[in-house]
Amino acid sequence: MTTISISKIAEGTVIDHIEPGIGIQIYELLNLKNHGAVVTLGLNMKSEKMGLKDLIKIEGRILSPEDLELISLFAPRSTITLIQKTEITQKYKVPFPSEVKGLFDCKNRSCISHHEIMKPSFKIYSRYKTIELECGFCLTKLNLNEASVKRPK
Ligand SMILES: [Zn+2]
Repeated sequence: MTTISISKIAEGTVIDHIEPGIGIQIYELLNLKNHGAVVTLGLNMKSEKMGLKDLIKIEGRILSPEDLELISLFAPRSTITLIQKTEITQKYKVPFPSEVKGLFDCKNRSCISHHEIMKPSFKIYSRYKTIELECGFCLTKLNLNEASVKRPK
């Protein structure tokens, strides 16, 4: 039997317990293609808790509050581990936000959030397994999967 071990990282972040199938989406949301250092993507890994899971290790990056909000919306069961000088310094579950600012664009073209300098803000509602966002300005509702995510290029 061959085992492939994923190397430990010295500095950076591990996003564990991502729902299987969502890992690539998180990779894209966090713009890891342009990260410039080692990123390890583990897909369909065995998990005692979840059966299968995805996992991402990011060398040399501490996640921003916006990164964490995106992870908590798209992969709410995730755990985050911070590693500094090869030691685990923090480990926690992503908190589920009740409101997010500046992460999404409103789909209502005449919404004031498209014209003003202020960041679009959305209230988060969770209905069954679906996550809905409601624009703080025009109250337009959108489903998480149809929301267009604003990310730095
Ligand atoms: Zn709006």
